Amino acid sequence: MSSLDPFLSRIHIAYFSMEIAVRSEMHTYSGGLGILAGDMARSCADLELPVVFVTLLSRAGYFRQVIAADGQQTEQPDWWEPESWCKPLDAMVAVEIERKPVWIRPWLYIHTCPHGHQIPILLLDTDLDQNGAEERKLTNYLYGGDDTYRLKQEIILGIGGIRILRALGFDLHLYHLNEGHAALLTLELLNRWRIPPAEPTAREFSYDLVEVRNRCVFTTHTPVDAGQDRFPYELFERLLPGFVERDALKQLAGDDRVNMTRLALNLAGYVNGVARRHAETTAHMFPGYRIHAVTNGVHAGTWTHDAFAQLYTAHFPQWQHEPEILVRALQLPEDEVWRCHQSAKSDLIRHVRESVGVGLDSDAPILGFARRMTGYKRPLLLFEDLDRLVDLAARWPFQVVLAGKAHPRDADGKAAIRQLHALARQLRGKITCVFLPGYDMRVAKALVAGSDIWLNTPLPPLEASGTSGMKAAFNGVLNLSVLDGWWIEACIDGVTGWPIGRDGDSAEGHATALYDQLDRAVLPLFYTNPEQWRTMMKQAIGNIGYYFNSQRMMRRYATEAYLR
Ligand SMILES: *Cc1c(COP(=O)(O)O)cnc(C)c1O
Repeated sequence: MSSLDPFLSRIHIAYFSMEIAVRSEMHTYSGGLGILAGDMARSCADLELPVVFVTLLSRAGYFRQVIAADGQQTEQPDWWEPESWCKPLDAMVAVEIERKPVWIRPWLYIHTCPHGHQIPILLLDTDLDQNGAEERKLTNYLYGGDDTYRLKQEIILGIGGIRILRALGFDLHLYHLNEGHAALLTLELLNRWRIPPAEPTAREFSYDLVEVRNRCVFTTHTPVDAGQDRFPYELFERLLPGFVERDALKQLAGDDRVNMTRLALNLAGYVNGVARRHAETTAHMFPGYRIHAVTNGVHAGTWTHDAFAQLYTAHFPQWQHEPEILVRALQLPEDEVWRCHQSAKSDLIRHVRESVGVGLDSDAPILGFARRMTGYKRPLLLFEDLDRLVDLAARWPFQVVLAGKAHPRDADGKAAIRQLHALARQLRGKITCVFLPGYDMRVAKALVAGSDIWLNTPLPPLEASGTSGMKAAFNGVLNLSVLDGWWIEACIDGVTGWPIGRDGDSAEGHATALYDQLDRAVLPLFYTNPEQWRTMMKQAIGNIGYYFNSQRMMRRYATEAYLR
């Protein structure tokens, strides 16, 4: 275990997340939640914050997206090789599930930041000889399986994770729960802070909640009630019989089902949403809790195209460590900014040609849209009025590049992918539309850097934050987005990008508002006023990049959530 030694005395905070996007070759993430966790890890290393990260190994990943010619998505296991990137540690712990021990071993990934500082990421694995065939598969499929499989994974992450950290010799005083998936760690802490009842018949809590709250920070990401992780009590009792007192659990996690968000809300001393609007929405859903807002940010070095990275380094040598300096982006020479953009755009055009065999025009603007394919992201909004869209493209030609995965059980999301393929066929010769399969970190980086316009059409208030538009801004790509999540805080109409509709207006008008913006503001500016377009690119880099970055976000977590 010598590889952990340098970390043990220094690290006092553990960050738990079901998914972490460490690098694109490690399939330990599905989307925004994991990307955020990865960007936090990278910033913790940059800022030398004393944090260890804990996640599942997810040997078979989320899934590999295969798309047939008609747009039908099928899912393949997305295996990756832990041996190529991580080292198995010589430690094991067990958690009892259904009264049987399930053994867990951690793998260690060490992330090294540009100036050499390192942070550890632990990936929990149950594929061990000590386990039966069923148990060995428990850390294979990220968000796979049924409720039982999921709850077992959450037991491994939350309860197993805490036990692993202790077995490895970490002395931790704070646990950060990224979303409710890690909430069961609070129960392991409750058991550590058990108070024997004063009298045998006493009904009050026999746990020291204050001690647990002092040690827990909870970041929630789900602005809808239905999206919350919940499990029937019978299932919980079957998997974890007698783990904590049932009355206490019901008071903490809800009466009818074990609600992981409620459990975490009740046992975290600091709770936050991931944008101001999201914190307000959460406070309405859960009256009586204080919900702070720490707006998300993205990791500057990770999401900036090489050409722009070199330009920034030439003008602001410390920009990766301190992206705030991009507040001076107006200083950048406009022709240089445009040259960097053309370089990112030609990389995207090459990627599209290699991936789906379609050629794009480097002179016409590219509208990029890459999202989880699900109802509230409204991937079909752009295509609501095809006549108007075609008329628009006849006057101001543009092309559309799409990407995104639908959860295997999201029938509507899969139908949307089929429909996007049908629309692309229907529009052939009028508007070039391509759908890139296998949306992941690599595809995302090509898209957020190489598009001209980054489109976002969520149904408010369901986009808790959104982060891909921030990545776009680091590359001078202009956002055209419904006002929800982070964009409410970042949008200055015509300066940093454009809104679709107004804050609080009815969602029915969003398609018309989108066409109006494209027709009156966005496309005419691109074609008739390239000078002003380039100025806007710099304004986006400056006004968005300097604030919506993960260094600022981590400094806020450090001072407001960790140093309480
Ligand atoms: C950034 C990113 C996301 C999250 O983007 P949103 O704007 O929140 O939709 C999802 N998936 C991948 C691969 C990403 O890189």
